[in-house]
Amino acid sequence: MWKDDDPDHETRAMNLRPAPVLSRSLLSCSLLFGALAPCAAQAQAQTLPQVEQGIVPVAAWGGTPADASKARHHTITHITLHHQGEPFKPGTDPQQYLRNLQTWSRNTKHWLDIPYHYIIDLDGRIYEGRNIAYAGDTNTEYDPTGHALIEVVGNFEEVEPNRQQLDAVVKLMAMLAKKYGVPLDHIASHRDFSKQTVCPGANLYRYVQDGYFRREVALRLAQEQARAR
Ligand SMILES: [Zn+2]
Repeated sequence: MWKDDDPDHETRAMNLRPAPVLSRSLLSCSLLFGALAPCAAQAQAQTLPQVEQGIVPVAAWGGTPADASKARHHTITHITLHHQGEPFKPGTDPQQYLRNLQTWSRNTKHWLDIPYHYIIDLDGRIYEGRNIAYAGDTNTEYDPTGHALIEVVGNFEEVEPNRQQLDAVVKLMAMLAKKYGVPLDHIASHRDFSKQTVCPGANLYRYVQDGYFRREVALRLAQEQARAR
């Protein structure tokens, strides 16, 4: 069922059918507000502990825990962004996608679990993948030990990330940066560590490259600090 002949990305071979359209959520957000920034402001109502509480746990999407005896424990020092590297068709059940991904990761790749710690769907919902206490896996030459790995569904060589996805990346990165004391300059993406991949795709990498994520995370952390006063 799965082929595994492309080293470009962890889950690239775990294919779904092509998705020809941009998410309508980006359109509606742009139409409503005319700019992206006010939409980002909407998402800031959540505190970072609320962001963490809102993450859909493994049991809730029908996954099973990894074999702890085979896990490599690590301490989080980096936050690293990935894309799925395959089109994610609107209407695809993200929970079914996660169950398939877990099965594929274990049975085909013989990994401990899904290679990523968090997965963000088309609606910006955040799902737990591999236990954050366990180091991730990769098809490429970098060592993901110490990296909190975030995957956004879709192929951002072909489509743009939508507003919900971008907001989810920011709030998840901010939550992780605060919880684990990760400095802003340790927020990066797969291709920053590997010459073998274009992950997270040109259209998502743009936000890494131009400093958008680091700036937005810094803002969220400042807001959190202001709240605490
Ligand atoms: Zn990647």
